[in-house]
Amino acid sequence: LTQLFRPLDMLGFVYRTIRQGLIDMAAMFKLIDTDAEVKDAPGAPALAIGRASVAFENVHFGYEQDREILHGLSFEVPAGSHVAIVGPSGAGKSTIARLLFRFYDPWSGRILIDGQDISQVTQASLRAQIGIVPQDSVLFNDTIGYNIAYGRDGASIEDVSRAARDAAILPFIEKLPLGFETEVGERGLKLSGGEKQRVAIARTLVKDPPILLLDEATSALDSRTEQDILATLHRVSEDRTSISIAHRLSTIADADEILVLDAGRLAERGSHAALLQRDGLYAEMWQRQQAERHDQEQAAEAAE
Ligand code: ATP
Repeated sequence: LTQLFRPLDMLGFVYRTIRQGLIDMAAMFKLIDTDAEVKDAPGAPALAIGRASVAFENVHFGYEQDREILHGLSFEVPAGSHVAIVGPSGAGKSTIARLLFRFYDPWSGRILIDGQDISQVTQASLRAQIGIVPQDSVLFNDTIGYNIAYGRDGASIEDVSRAARDAAILPFIEKLPLGFETEVGERGLKLSGGEKQRVAIARTLVKDPPILLLDEATSALDSRTEQDILATLHRVSEDRTSISIAHRLSTIADADEILVLDAGRLAERGSHAALLQRDGLYAEMWQRQQAERHDQEQAAEAAE
């Protein structure tokens, strides 16, 4: 009888593994409630990627009828530049990221990459060009090597090792007795928030995309880890078009342009210095965050 059950057990295992994979993907892209509304246009060509400029042209969008979230949004991210999107909670920052990855299509207006409307090219070719470093990276219940190699089909061990080095996680992996073969995730080694973030960066580096979408971690990393990760991200975004969705303004002060989104509209835009001088919403957010930081530092000192 056990002979008979073994294959069934095996099937159960495969099923659980696949299911886990799907859940992980869903969590990774915050896709839980998205269905496949978006389809490739018949005969759609692949995106022909050049230097990877991104543009939103008068984009209107909402998740539900009668509730528009983005009200005619236009901005450009020149090839190779770094644009940050900031703004109060619910302003529509993550929505912009979801539209760029084409989880949804705009109600009207266009999103262009190198001048091509992303709704007119294949989704696979679009998504191959965009690397996402999500807020809370989800790891598969598999080896750390698999988790990094997952960035691209056919990645070699050299690719994985180089990506781990560039994401500054290689020394950590090399110290593990099983190295890249170490099992991680729920059933294996638990990684810290910072280590998980680095694995996600390495996964993105294996993919080597010309466009990076960085969704800043809201989960608290200690400030030293945060600084280290930021330095790594800066290094890997050089020479790539990058869009950061940021909550803490200190992390994006050196962006080429900062877009301040408020309730689905661009309230302000400019460099950090120009926005501070303007003394508007950005300056107000900056001062509030600086004051909060000061209070936290004082509280930490008092606790010592
Ligand atoms: P936060 O800083 O809190 O992450 P955000 O600026 O990224 O916020 P979005 O996640 O883009 O904001 O959400 C913009 C608006 O769209 C919010 O009012 C939100 O409630 C709504 N929204 C987001 N996702 C969905 C969804 N799947 N279905 C319906 N409404 C949604």
